[in-house]
Amino acid sequence: MTEHPQRKIACPTCGKQFYMDETTAPPFCCQRCKLIDLGRWLDEEIGLPHEQDESPKTIDRDSVDQ
Ligand SMILES: [Zn+2]
Repeated sequence: MTEHPQRKIACPTCGKQFYMDETTAPPFCCQRCKLIDLGRWLDEEIGLPHEQDESPKTIDRDSVDQ
């Protein structure tokens, strides 16, 4: 056999192995995993989900924990 088999890759999100032809969202195995990975990036980027208030914050959370 001289034909090269389909290339199998591993999904960066879930680690599942699949063929490139099987996915609609390479290099992920599915759109869902792509969105999950994207969500991770956004979480790291933004950090705090809530929007910032213009008023100064007087609550000191630092002294509460530990
Ligand atoms: Zn996946």
